[in-house]
Amino acid sequence: MFQRRILCGIQPSSVPHIGNYLGAIKKWVDLQNNGDKLVVMLADLHAVTIPREPETLRKSVLETAASLIASGIDPKRSIIYRQSDLYHHTQLSWLLGTLTTVQKVGHIPTYKSKVKDESSIPLGLFLYPVLQTADILLFKTTHLPIGEDQIPHLQLCTYMIEKFFHYYKKNIFPVPQMMATETNRIRSLRHPEQKMSKSDIEERSRIDIMDDEKIIQERVMKALTDFNAHVSYDREQRPGVSNLIDIYAGMTDQSIESIVAEAQKNNMNTGAFKKCLAQIIIEHFRPKRAEYLKLMSDRSYLLSILDDGRERAKEIADSTLNEVKDIMGFN
Ligand code: AMP
Repeated sequence: MFQRRILCGIQPSSVPHIGNYLGAIKKWVDLQNNGDKLVVMLADLHAVTIPREPETLRKSVLETAASLIASGIDPKRSIIYRQSDLYHHTQLSWLLGTLTTVQKVGHIPTYKSKVKDESSIPLGLFLYPVLQTADILLFKTTHLPIGEDQIPHLQLCTYMIEKFFHYYKKNIFPVPQMMATETNRIRSLRHPEQKMSKSDIEERSRIDIMDDEKIIQERVMKALTDFNAHVSYDREQRPGVSNLIDIYAGMTDQSIESIVAEAQKNNMNTGAFKKCLAQIIIEHFRPKRAEYLKLMSDRSYLLSILDDGRERAKEIADSTLNEVKDIMGFN
């Protein structure tokens, strides 16, 4: 009944890191190259749940767009656009928000974990999952390539679809299916018990995918491991070296077992393994970085891609929003 459509969202916080790449972008490119229709949303409205410096936000949108295109998102086959270019997101968010309760949204664990001070909860942080539901439903999304941490948000989305049906007796939204992403979470290179994150103030904790070769080399070589020079995989006991093996597996599509077996067969210690991994990352991103630099030097071309994406996304968004408003008694 519904056309298969996949929504991929990423917050434009400068250049994505290797965790974003292996956990999300690389998989999106594979889906696109296998014939799926992707809507790639630069989620700048979500990015301001924590206030951003305006110039940094503007610049980050272009850097993220260029990184995605350089990584293989093809603006002809996929729609790539900036969320704030369509007022439809916020309007649908308001309309759908009337269908849920403060209690329901307040139960979402990802929101709770981000609240540091219970006496001063940012409203944007609280409402984030409602806007996310609007993003998903605006495109009548059928599939979402998301991680397990997003399951509570998907449950809220499903709940709101049911509520819409309950009140208005119209079945206009598909229940989106989660497409499990297999890669283990990539963790910080300095604190391997935490996930790699753009918000980590320690730059050495991550590799941004458009970093130059010297930085990649340095960050991998200085990644925290332990006193054991053997290459073996144990995420609990040896989080540092295991994280490097996870990155290796993501970059090469090899299994953990075969990587460890090969390293042991070649008598590789962790130092030699790091050298080899750094080289793999450098080679993988070299052509992508060249493309990125080219795109970043042609701002008007990048903007024209986002304009085109906006028009194509708007066509779908207009149709859904009009339908919802019609059903709810606005038009
Ligand atoms: P964000 O912009 O942080 O919301 O992340 C964009 C995408 O990257 C989402 O699909 C995340 O699940 C994924 N992602 C973020 N950090 C990591 C990580 N450390 N390892 C694997 N995937 C990640």
